[in-house]
Amino acid sequence: MPAQTALDFPIENHNHVWKNELFGFLNQIIDRILEIPMEKIEDFAKIVFNHKSEIIGQLTLGLIKKQFGHFFEQEYCDCPVCGKTIKYHANNVKRKVEILGGGFELLRPYFYCRKCKKGFYPLDEALGLASSPKQYDIQDVEAWLSSELPYKTAEETYERTTGNPLSNGHMHETTNKIAERLEITDVCPTKAEIEQAINEISDNSFRRPVMMLAIDGAHAPTRPAPSPRKGKRGKGEWKEVKGFRLYLINGKRIVHLISWHQVQNDRKLAADLQTIAEAGLIPEDKVRLCVIGDGADWIWNRTAELFPTAKVVLDFWHCSEHLHETANAQFGKGTPEAMELVETSLTRLFDNDLDNVIAELESISPSSATAEEKIRGVIGYLLKHEQGVNYGKAKRGGYQIGSGAIESANKFIAHVRLKRSGAWWYPSHANNILKLRCAKYNGTYDRIIKKHIEFDRQETYPSATSIHCKNL
Ligand SMILES: [Zn+2]
Repeated sequence: MPAQTALDFPIENHNHVWKNELFGFLNQIIDRILEIPMEKIEDFAKIVFNHKSEIIGQLTLGLIKKQFGHFFEQEYCDCPVCGKTIKYHANNVKRKVEILGGGFELLRPYFYCRKCKKGFYPLDEALGLASSPKQYDIQDVEAWLSSELPYKTAEETYERTTGNPLSNGHMHETTNKIAERLEITDVCPTKAEIEQAINEISDNSFRRPVMMLAIDGAHAPTRPAPSPRKGKRGKGEWKEVKGFRLYLINGKRIVHLISWHQVQNDRKLAADLQTIAEAGLIPEDKVRLCVIGDGADWIWNRTAELFPTAKVVLDFWHCSEHLHETANAQFGKGTPEAMELVETSLTRLFDNDLDNVIAELESISPSSATAEEKIRGVIGYLLKHEQGVNYGKAKRGGYQIGSGAIESANKFIAHVRLKRSGAWWYPSHANNILKLRCAKYNGTYDRIIKKHIEFDRQETYPSATSIHCKNL
């Protein structure tokens, strides 16, 4: 890359000079390209692709010079801390700038205030450059790819498609940096967006639409973060990813609102639910809220505390599986008697006739100790979930009775990325990937990237100056 500086030309000619430089550079590149033999389309494509980073880089630099030419030859500047006017400390200080399309070298003056012991580059601040050579458009793609693919594959994908090098270590670091600051509300739609979705699905019908809150756990391979003292890798263990999915239903229409999954305990999940409820994202006055889940106690304990008036549904398939197991233990797997017990029980549950389901189960004389244990177990289970097994009534009310929606979200959000052979995740890193995947699913990915840019910029340029160019 020819070293070019804006300092070689007088300030009044800026507008012409940057263009002349750019065309001069393009001329050189074209001459260089013409020396290479090209026959098939792939030859042409490859040669242009191999030069595109340099071309895009120089075009970008030219446009920056057009806009910010004065910053390249700035001699004096006010210290952003004390306001004192100081002369540049060094001229032509070089840094690398990499963008998604290519890269270039930036030569710009450096200022140092002795009194404040603070150094600064006015041009960097004017452009809002990231401290890493890799700018925010690259960081966006790093997080996007590595939340889909293992880091090594993500790195290769990036390199093959952009032609520019990237280390998987940088991807890992960027991805975690972007995600670790995110809170649940960052990856959720806003209150206004939720309300708009509710209005749209309500469709002037006199009943409030159903809002389903499906809660479930899945397992992810984790290992503890290395202890700073021993520095050894911890042993792998499976930990539960607890999550929920919130969606609206009106007849056959389903509108997804929020998915949130984290390696965490039920108290933390409950705190997350409380956070979004307080943010107005579960407006119980505008919807008919319904909690659906399997038989796991933590689900029902936490939601009873949080949403005491919500409708509850015990996942139909989970309930039916329990009945099958009991009937099989009593009558033998797949026997007509077993089938009949299951069919009758489920039909009765659809008729809201739990009493007779229990009565029939109680009337059975157990065929074995296992059968006895199963029968006692399923009676306790049905009584415990008495409110959640009136399937007929739930269906007529427009509620869903199966938790397939959360199971597919679990598969899509957690399993697809976390369950890779040989991958054992630190819980914090697994959670970072999950946050990014939830943001994608919830339609808030671009928003979290914007937030990352704001955050990172504030950290890079904390004095948030309005740096003045003294020689203008
Ligand atoms: Zn100062």
